[in-house]
Amino acid sequence: MASAAIDKDSLKARYRAERDKRLRADGNDQYVELKGSFAHLLDDPYMPVVERAPVTDHVRFAFVGGGFAGLCTGARLVEAGITDVRIIEKGGDFGGTWYWNRYPGAQCDTASIIYMPLLEETGHRPTEKYAHAPEILAQSQRIGATFGLYDKALFHTEVTEMVWDDAENRWVIGTNRGDRFTADFIGMGTGPLHVPKLPGIPGIETFKGHSFHTSRWDYDYTGGDSGGKSLDRLINKKVAIIGTGATSVQFVPHLARAAETLYVVQRTPSSVDVRANEPIDPDWFDSIAAPGWQQRWLENFAGNVGMGGASEDWVQDGWTDLSKRIRSRIMALPPAEMTPANMLAAFEDADFEKMSEIRARAETLVEDTETAEKLKAWYRQLCKRPCFHDAYLQAFNEPGTHLVDTDGQGVERITETGFVVGGVEYEVDCIIYASGFEVGTDHTRRAGFDITGVGGRKLSEAWGEGMRTLHGLHVHGFPNAFIVQFAQAANYVVNVPHNWTDAGTTIAAIVRHATDAGFSRVDAEPQAQADWVKLLMTGPGMMIGGPDCTPGYYNNEGKERGPEAAYAVGHPGGALAFFRHIAKWRKSGRFEGLAFG
Ligand code: NDP
Repeated sequence: MASAAIDKDSLKARYRAERDKRLRADGNDQYVELKGSFAHLLDDPYMPVVERAPVTDHVRFAFVGGGFAGLCTGARLVEAGITDVRIIEKGGDFGGTWYWNRYPGAQCDTASIIYMPLLEETGHRPTEKYAHAPEILAQSQRIGATFGLYDKALFHTEVTEMVWDDAENRWVIGTNRGDRFTADFIGMGTGPLHVPKLPGIPGIETFKGHSFHTSRWDYDYTGGDSGGKSLDRLINKKVAIIGTGATSVQFVPHLARAAETLYVVQRTPSSVDVRANEPIDPDWFDSIAAPGWQQRWLENFAGNVGMGGASEDWVQDGWTDLSKRIRSRIMALPPAEMTPANMLAAFEDADFEKMSEIRARAETLVEDTETAEKLKAWYRQLCKRPCFHDAYLQAFNEPGTHLVDTDGQGVERITETGFVVGGVEYEVDCIIYASGFEVGTDHTRRAGFDITGVGGRKLSEAWGEGMRTLHGLHVHGFPNAFIVQFAQAANYVVNVPHNWTDAGTTIAAIVRHATDAGFSRVDAEPQAQADWVKLLMTGPGMMIGGPDCTPGYYNNEGKERGPEAAYAVGHPGGALAFFRHIAKWRKSGRFEGLAFG
């Protein structure tokens, strides 16, 4: 026991030292928006923008965002008989994050059979335990086609305003394509991670070589395609990748094989656990695919992560592994010692054990000892997005691939011909920015517009002191509007699409009820909203990130958050508790907390 305690203390000290090294005063301001001379990096490399006439009609339901949130809501509405649905999407097709992120090796990190929505409804059988991006994009398109969502969709279109018309009980919607149409109901599924950002490295604008952000992969430059074809145009190229988050982990192995020289520039290593991808055996799939199978699998997975309590683990992966370890340590506590402090200590012990295994992986798989040491992640697993890959660490054994570790400080400077780290200039032909997406910035900046509710009140005003919703979906004063996101609902980040299929079911039930009963307006009752928020505040708060973590978007880049951040939480009983609550609420048919009129 004594030596374990010493190990724990020294580990904690190491974690703290690594975190302190990375803390910086500018937090989110260290990043640069893709504007001005960087604006072209946002251009759609996949589909041309086609001219069209502005739209000026009326629809029953308009939804902003053609990713999984919009697709699931649209599908559930159509299933409920509400077919007059328009999705407005800034990309050239459905898919959201899977439309934009087509970098080599992109694949889901949560098992396909629970990650890919509406498999049962569309009849698609995933080919791999973790499907690759083209298959997930195709599933998005399949949902769109199956439910007729293409008919009224507006692609390459960004909403610029949504204003409630109190006299007519409907929304007026404007876009950057000159459209001005109305809708009885609106939904918003603009996603948490869709605005790419660049690192604010001095000199970044001076680089004269080629550069792009990972969410707009330039296959014309690299050769190859998102289907896995070799990146053959990099054979004589020196390439730098800036960033080693979940995106980088997936594409580095492909570039390591293709480029003449690859520099992987690291500020903080990711934790990279076992992936164990495998093809899905059709016979096995048939054996599980009895009607209702996907919902059962969704619930089983949700019951195995976080605070769920499922007895059997069907998915069996890195996500459920950590949760199972934590649970078994907590259950091993004698009943008299089951205090919150001891439970947190058990959680910490399980995390130390898991992270030690992940660090040992780097030692085993990377031939060069110094490189292996630098690839070790010194923080708790949920401080940063956990990664899973069976070729990333091994990529550093390729002779042309070099880890350029910045000891937590980032790139010093970008020059006309390359980048500088530790006073050394590395000349490159191309810089790929794997620098992620805006998270901690104001939500109106990320959505690109603010919605205007009753009496001209903006959503940003309503949420000025923190988010206030009923079920994470309705905001009093914004009738007939549904905000599809996960805070104040399940807050279920491990399998994000589960939030969306569930929200879609709720929205469809409400709109169906309003339609059948002849109501033209539905709003959250203020008391019900206040009671819901009060209930949320009784929970344990955020289980990921935290002030002791190494900086990243999980903890607002290490900067203390304002008091309003306390409201970005989920149901106090965890994701499964929320899903059960809302299913019962829907089933009752009373829609308590909503005022119809
Ligand atoms: P991240 O924000 O996770 O990573 C950005 C990277 O850029 C970090 O390694 C960061 O370092 C680094 N960086 C930033 N500034 C500098 C600098 N000045 N010098 C050097 N390095 C710098 O972005 P990703 O695109 O990798 O991932 C974003 C999210 O998208 C993931 O967390 C995940 O939620 C999602 N995703 C999901 C996938 C899936 O489910 N299949 C796949 C890929 C992504 P530091 O860590 O020090 O800040």
